Amino acid sequence: MSEVRVRFPPSPTGYLHIGGARTALLNWLYAKKTGGKLILRIEDTDEERSTSASIDGILDGLSWLGLDWDEGPYFQSSFADDHCRAAQKLIETGHAYKCFCSKEELEAKRDAAMAAKQDVKYDGTCRNLSGEEIAAREKAGIPAVIRFKVEKKDGVVGYDDRVLGRIERRYDDIEDFVIVRSNGKPLYLLCNVVDDIRDRISHVIRGQDHMTNTTRQVLLYEALGAPVPVFAHMPLTLDLQKRKISKRSHGEIVAVQFYRERGFIPWALCNFLVLLGWNPGDDREIFSREELIEAFSLERIGKTNSIFNYRKDDPKFFTDPKAIAINAHYLRTLPIVEIGALVKKHFQTQGLWHDDYDGPRREWFLATLELIRDRFHTINDFAEAGRAYFADDYALDPQPLAKNVLKHPELREWLPGLAERFAALKLFDKEHTETATRGMAEELAIKPGILINAMRTVLTGQLAGPGLFDVLVALGREKVVARLRDIDRLFGGI
Ligand code: GLU
Repeated sequence: MSEVRVRFPPSPTGYLHIGGARTALLNWLYAKKTGGKLILRIEDTDEERSTSASIDGILDGLSWLGLDWDEGPYFQSSFADDHCRAAQKLIETGHAYKCFCSKEELEAKRDAAMAAKQDVKYDGTCRNLSGEEIAAREKAGIPAVIRFKVEKKDGVVGYDDRVLGRIERRYDDIEDFVIVRSNGKPLYLLCNVVDDIRDRISHVIRGQDHMTNTTRQVLLYEALGAPVPVFAHMPLTLDLQKRKISKRSHGEIVAVQFYRERGFIPWALCNFLVLLGWNPGDDREIFSREELIEAFSLERIGKTNSIFNYRKDDPKFFTDPKAIAINAHYLRTLPIVEIGALVKKHFQTQGLWHDDYDGPRREWFLATLELIRDRFHTINDFAEAGRAYFADDYALDPQPLAKNVLKHPELREWLPGLAERFAALKLFDKEHTETATRGMAEELAIKPGILINAMRTVLTGQLAGPGLFDVLVALGREKVVARLRDIDRLFGGI
């Protein structure tokens, strides 16, 4: 079998969105699976809409996801000569022709055809102009587009889609389509094929939204005398209202950057994305890179649209709950040093990082992450719900504050009292802190839970968390004593 060469050819007109990332991922997987190559090509021929910020964003997003490529980035705009030469060749070989029909003429004909309920395809006025007729129009300076000359014959043009099976379209359904604009600029349909031929692309894996182009592109391959690649079209991703997920209607929630900013683990996002359009044939949902490469096949790409289960009305979920569940799974199970590296990056942006977390306090830092990660969903949670372990300016959740602390004014005495007992302990470990707490509860004839719940709220700001005596040890005596002594601030003027 000849070498597999796949490509990811984004148009740089906005940020890298989850649809684009999924396309890149599936191509990447196929390249890895087959020992092939992934070519990155930036399709920047739309000068007005392409921006360098978008190019940077796409490259950055792919790198963050860990999707490396083997060749490129190539820039479509630097191959303009190839595109024009191909158009010229198509004219010379009788596969394309210049069309001088004006926009107004075409519109009038289209309106008339529509009124008569006839086909609105181009009527072929310029299809068979003689050499003299063409020369005369050119001499008169009439602008021309170049149209592909679809053979007039019975039968169908088709291809064997690796996902959807045989796809066919009748020749007489396809109009002579434009491949070069009147300003001399070749269109996407042609550029894309010329580049895929030059880049020796063997497999085109892209969204079903491109299927309207594919049969016409097959005609272009044939006319250019090039082998037709294998096509595999992926299903679209829809929201719960069955609308196609898009930047325009869904905004930032479809941007890869959105997930990065909210503390997603790159591979967790890949793991979520692959399931939007592919399934392993069993009920597995979590795959390491190696497992996914092993399990991946084009044949298991879905035929039907997938659903991005995003409930805008439910503030609990800022995105698809499955995405959060997958991220949480990785957050809780990856080796703690990997989590530590991601938390470090986030802490650095939050002003929470201390270099000794990489030095003398590294063991403490990693052990603390290990202790608190079980309840977390994203890397950002360490700086938010977990903030009290790393800084003193943490917020107190008002509900547990009211229920566990403010409801018992006696805690204004009890907690500073407990602080003094902790300060006097020989050893500040789980056992001694627990004995001190229970001893005090007994003396006061109250349930130890009152002291325990109050301490959890005061010390961490949270309703729930790891076992309290683990929390005390993780925080360390100094912080615990200071925070418990300072209880009055919580009661304010009461
Ligand atoms: N530039 C096109 C896009 O971003 C590529 C389509 C293709 O894969 O052929 O949609």
